[in-house]
Amino acid sequence: MIGPSSFRAERGISRSSETMIGAVDIGGTKIAVGMVDESGRVWARTECSTTAERGWPDGLARIATMLRETAGHAGGELDGIGVGCTGPVDPMAGTIGNVEFLPGWEGADIAGELSHTFGVSVAIENDADAAALGEAMWGAGRGAQRFIYVTVGTGIGGGLVFDGQLYRGVDGAHPEIGHHVLDPAGPACFCGAHGCWESLASGPSMARWLRDNARDGLHALEGDARSICAAAERGDPLAQAAVAHTGYYLGLGLANLITLFVPDVLALGGGLMRSRHLFWDTILNTIRAMCGLVPAEKVRLVSAVLGPEAGLIGAARVWLHRYGASHGTLEKPSRP
Ligand SMILES: [Zn+2]
Repeated sequence: MIGPSSFRAERGISRSSETMIGAVDIGGTKIAVGMVDESGRVWARTECSTTAERGWPDGLARIATMLRETAGHAGGELDGIGVGCTGPVDPMAGTIGNVEFLPGWEGADIAGELSHTFGVSVAIENDADAAALGEAMWGAGRGAQRFIYVTVGTGIGGGLVFDGQLYRGVDGAHPEIGHHVLDPAGPACFCGAHGCWESLASGPSMARWLRDNARDGLHALEGDARSICAAAERGDPLAQAAVAHTGYYLGLGLANLITLFVPDVLALGGGLMRSRHLFWDTILNTIRAMCGLVPAEKVRLVSAVLGPEAGLIGAARVWLHRYGASHGTLEKPSRP
């Protein structure tokens, strides 16, 4: 289940803080678990495949085992546990919602179960909100009063952190910025809408656009977003057109966020943004053309900086944001 080869722990350096947070990042393909201190440093980490079909009790047992192992390697007792989980979650009840990639896990009381097992407080958020909190505290949004984080990969998600607080909708709902509609005549999305941002500017939507526009289906490219970006760099005209099409819709969605919220900083992360140089000019030109009424030039559009461990770091921040009184952004769990 958890091989030694998958385990990594920091060595030879002394911990800067006494607080050690167990971090759990649950995605559709893998679950990462680690130990993160209160300055956002990852001290140990491991992961396993999600294999949700083995059932929630099995998933919970694996998460608990990985928490014990990483805590042991980091040499610290757990002060709390933060969880970032894909899909809808109920952050105040501490439960997993109806997540497409976690069949059978709906209603799982992850916060309650882990709290009972480890005897510490546990906080859970949607993974995009977790990453937004991490970037706001330790990454691209540091010091920004109004910060928006957007992740662009197989989907589009994000989180809004205003005045140090995570923006929530009614009953704690996570705003789905990736599903705001840009073209009602656009492609159908699983969310029920047509032409939402994710259906026009995510990695899979770029691949679909290329397939739909390949003349007679004879174009050699049938790949994913990564291979399309590589082909665009080599000068393939259809791949370049797919990148331009996606860049335009990325820019359009970002322009909407800027017009609606005028944040100090808007940070872009996610797999597709590893090729951000291909999209950047189109994004900037679209924002300039669309944001006529707000000082868009004052909005800093930047790359997310926490990198591959953003999920774990964000999960740790979820706990600190909820329970870490020393950080001055204590958000008390409340439910009407
Ligand atoms: Zn949608």
